[in-house]
Formats: sequence, structure tokens, C-alpha cells
Amino acid sequence: MSMSSVLIANRGEIAVRIVRAAKALGLRTVQAHSQADRDSLAVRLADEAVEIGPAAAAKSYLNIEAVLDAAKRTGVDAIHPGYGFLSENAAFAQAVTEAGMIFVGPDAHAIRLLGDKVAARDVAAKAGVPTVPGSDGRVSDLGVARAIVARIGFPAMIKAAAGGGGRGIRIAQTMEDFERHFPQAAAEAQAAFGDGGLYIEKVIERARHVEVQILGDGKNFIHCFERECSLQRRRQKVWEEAPAAMLPADVRERLCDSAVALVRSVGYRGAGTVEYLYDEASREFYFIEVNTRIQVEHPVTEMVTGLDLVQEMLRIAGGASLSVRQEDIAVSGHAIECRINAEDPAKNFMPWPGKVASLAVPKGDGIRFDTMLYEGYQIPPFYDSLLGKLIVHGSDRTDALCRLRSALAGLAIGGLPTTVSLHQALAADPAVANGDFHTRFLEPWLETQFAALQGGMKEAV
Ligand code: ADP
Ligand code: ADP
Ligand code: MG
Repeated sequence: MSMSSVLIANRGEIAVRIVRAAKALGLRTVQAHSQADRDSLAVRLADEAVEIGPAAAAKSYLNIEAVLDAAKRTGVDAIHPGYGFLSENAAFAQAVTEAGMIFVGPDAHAIRLLGDKVAARDVAAKAGVPTVPGSDGRVSDLGVARAIVARIGFPAMIKAAAGGGGRGIRIAQTMEDFERHFPQAAAEAQAAFGDGGLYIEKVIERARHVEVQILGDGKNFIHCFERECSLQRRRQKVWEEAPAAMLPADVRERLCDSAVALVRSVGYRGAGTVEYLYDEASREFYFIEVNTRIQVEHPVTEMVTGLDLVQEMLRIAGGASLSVRQEDIAVSGHAIECRINAEDPAKNFMPWPGKVASLAVPKGDGIRFDTMLYEGYQIPPFYDSLLGKLIVHGSDRTDALCRLRSALAGLAIGGLPTTVSLHQALAADPAVANGDFHTRFLEPWLETQFAALQGGMKEAV
């Protein structure tokens, strides 16, 4: 490999994950961190650490100059951006390359084509991948927008071209609704993403979120099968699985092939995810977006395929060809991931940074806990509330659920409320056990079943 060191330009559990993968490949690791993250686990684990600015992400993890300067000062060959922050920023990818370093991810051109959700719809359509009915490109004129929604019908979705992490999406039930939301959505997208570009999609009702993990080295393009991420709150994934248990074999094949066709059409290099909505009733799937980076839920794919996706990303970035061929990849058993957040489920998931007074982590076959936590760690209040991910693997879905229940019982994070209690309730729920859910399942379930469970808990106290 023409690469011997890497700067990790991210934080939290994914920084820890990248440090470990890079070390396994014999790379020197340099952890870039804000002032608020001096005591982070990734800083402790990395060979070196370098401060890039104050707590505010805009002045540290999102500051291109500061990250590049840290990389130059520490003499690294490459920068791994993780997820969120600068990971899908084409200007950053380009600046890294122009500074003579390797960006661990696709090139700026591929990020521009796929990271912009409107451009990506066009790439998908050209590659023969079915997209959600909607606008052909960006829409800025209300009159034009009205004509489009009148054609596709209600409910309709207004989406920000630069949106992500569940933000930048509004639903309009009526034309009146639409006329009110449209200008607000543009202003909000401009403020949140620095890009007010909007597009319109029909709402696919009772859809399941199914996504395909892909890998490319610029010449060879493969898929590592799919994940299902339908349990969502505020359009953010809460619980993810691999494989998508309800997907018929012929649909799975077409879905995975379509993701490969899409990334092949842009000569993709690196790991990526092609996201779809799947309508069980019609057996149709619709492309929604590409994430040109490692995803939060990548471990479920690793558990069922045995691949190490982060190591694979680093190898590809170093100039290697894919280490596996499509025919080498098979799915074995079933995996489930629960996102563990520092949020209080009893207080409408209010973020609750605190000090980790004690930590008990379940161990055993088929159990993995990817985390940033250690005993005594003070969680900084400035960032995302994700603390870690509990991942289990079983011989089938029933076995995985069974293992999940016992793993959750063995996970005890003392000193602050977390979403462990939410996952315990989900893992015990009959509809979840039957795989009987879609992207709009969790929110009403939280209002009814989960609220009732918590009411019961309060009475018992
Ligand atoms: P994944 O797509 O990997 O399942 P998420 O959607 O939860 O994961 O995003 C991972 C992280 O990246 C979150 O912290 C989220 O807020 C952040 N993120 C993703 N896309 C964007 C974006 N366009 N702008 C800002 N933050 C983003
Ligand atoms: P983000 O970039 O924030 O991840 P996505 O476009 O991937 O945004 O959408 C996030 C979630 O919003 C999806 O997983 C799904 O639950 C919901 N969603 C997005 N588009 C549609 C649609 N056209 N119809 C129904 N639900 C949708
Ligand atoms: Mg998405």
C-alpha cells in the first residue's frame, strides 16, 4: 500500500472504529479532535492526536482549513472523513487531493454527482434504476412546483437537495399545505445546508427502507447485499438489520444489481450505500439517495458477510483492487443493530449528555458493541447523541432477536438515561418480532405502546 498513515477527521464511535481498522492494517493513526474531545476514546487509542479547534463543529470538524493544516503538520498520507461532517463535501475531497494527500472515499467528481440528491436521481434514472416519481431536477418557482405536485398527487414530499441525517424534508397533505411549506423549506435548507435547492417526491406510503452496500475500486463494482432500516424516528434510523428479511429473492437480486449498475456508471471508488424505498404490496422499489461514505449501520453487513468494510475502504484508498469478488460474498445468518443514544426516552428523547458513572458491556459469541464510551467519560454536549451501537448476529432472525434481548439486558450505562430501554421494548414487541413494520411504524408506536409501557413503569416505582 502506498499509504502508511491516516488522519481521522471525525469523532465518537466511528473515530474509534476507524482507528482500530487502520491499526489492524499497520497504519500510523492520527486523531484530529476539537478542544471538547481531548479526553475521547479515539484520542486515547490513536498513535497521535492533533487539536483542530474549539468545540463548535463549524470551527473544528467542519473547518476544512483546520483539518488540512493538522494533516500537513502531522505528515499523514491520507484523511478518513467518517460519516457526517466533511464526509460528503466534494470541495473537501478535492482540497485533500490537491494538497497531495489521499481522501478515503470517492473522488470529488463522484461526490458531486451522487452527494447532491437531485443530481443523484438523474444518475440513477440514466443507469436504469427506478426513482420515486417527482420533479426532474431542482424546483425554485412555486408555480412550476404546483404543477408538479398536481401531477404526482398528495401527500407530497419537499426535500432539500443537500439534506441528510433526516433533516430537510417536509410533507404536504394538500395544495394549501404545499404553498405554505415550499418557501419555508427553501429558506430552511439555505440556512441549514448553505444550499436552498429543493426537489419534490411523491410519498411512498407504508414503505420499507432497504439499502444496498456497495464497494468499487474504479474498475470492479460489487454489492455486499442489503440492509433494512425501517424503524426510524424523525426519519433517522434507530434499529437496522441485515438481510432485509421480507425481501423476495428475485427482488433482492434486481435491487442489488441496480445499485451496482448505478455506481458502475460513475466509476465509483470506495464504499457507499444506495438507499431505496420498497413497497411490499406492489413489490416495487424506488431509489432515494446515495451516501458516498461509510454508514452508521455498516456493522450489520460486516456481521453477515464477514467483511471489514472500513479496512476495505482504506485498502482501496491506498490503491489496491477490491480484495473480494462478487461470487466470494455470501450472507450468513441475521444481524441487528441498535443505536444507543444519550437521550431520555421518557422525556421525548431529550439529549442528555452526562458522565458515564459505570459501564457494563455484554460479551459473547455474536455480540459486538461499537462505542466511544469508557467509565468516567464526560460526554460533551456539543455533538450528535450517538454513544454506540449494539450489534448481534444469530443463525436466523429469531435467533438474532433472542441474542439481542440478552445482550441488551447485559448492557448497563450508569449515570445518564439512554435509549437502551427503547430497544428493550422494541426487542420484546410482537410486531417487531414478526418483521411487521414500515418507515412510519415507530413514531405512532412510541405515542401508544411505548408510552403505555413507560406509564406502567412509573406506576410500579
Ligand atoms: P446513516 O446515513 O449512516 O444511516 P445518519 O443519516 O444518521 O446515518 O447520518 C449519520 C450522521 O451524519 C449523523 O450525525 C447526521 O446528522 C450526519 N449527517 C448526514 N448527512 C448530513 C448532512 N447532509 N448534513 C449534516 N449532517 C449530516
Ligand atoms: P436523508 O438524506 O436525510 O437520509 P432520505 O432521502 O434518505 O434522507 O430519506 C430519509 C427517510 O425519509 C427515508 O428513509 C424514509 O423513511 C423517508 N422518505 C424519504 N423519501 C420518501 C418518500 N418519497 N416517501 C416516503 N418516505 C420517504
Ligand atoms: Mg438517507
